Amino acid sequence: MSDADKPSASPGAREEAPIGLSGEAPVEGPGGPERGEADGPGAPGEATEAPVVHGYRGLPVSAADVALVDRALALAGRCAASGDVPVGAVVVGPDGATWGDGYNRREADGDPCAHAEILALREAAAARGGWRLDGATLAVTLEPCPMCAGALVQARVARVVFGAWDDKAGACGSVWDLVRDRRALHRLEVVGGVREDECVAVLRDFFSARRAPGRG
Ligand SMILES: [Zn+2]
Repeated sequence: MSDADKPSASPGAREEAPIGLSGEAPVEGPGGPERGEADGPGAPGEATEAPVVHGYRGLPVSAADVALVDRALALAGRCAASGDVPVGAVVVGPDGATWGDGYNRREADGDPCAHAEILALREAAAARGGWRLDGATLAVTLEPCPMCAGALVQARVARVVFGAWDDKAGACGSVWDLVRDRRALHRLEVVGGVREDECVAVLRDFFSARRAPGRG
């Protein structure tokens, strides 16, 4: 068994990779059905008409949510210029109209709060002329951290859609679940694992490059 082929973080890697890259969704969560992919790709039968994207525990995800995460992925690409961890976010209204977007600028701005979600929420609030973002959906490539999850609750965002689970610092079901805490005044609908493979790959590439030979 060779470790050389494994792209995921090794026990010795102590970079602040935000995710375990295990590819496994958390065991806990809203008691959804079990993953419905046990048949595998070789299942007999006719081909399906349209490709169905599966998210958390294999649940199908709406095309609209997939499109939002794709937009967030494109925004994450803009982080390369500043060396920021690639994370992008989009906020849309109930009708799908774009209210705001952003990408991680923590390094670029030297601002610990300049996460993609915060910047997208600020832009959305400015566009709406107020802090309440009732009915909004925020899509982001990585499961929000506690700060951003708190901001989502504060802004009264209705839904959060994300790609990669963050089993080290995620606050929408992985480590904490601040957006569905029964004690909170406001709770969100959570749709995780959308375009998970793509979102994980973006982060994995970023952190593997930082670990490239020549750097401690
Ligand atoms: Zn955050």
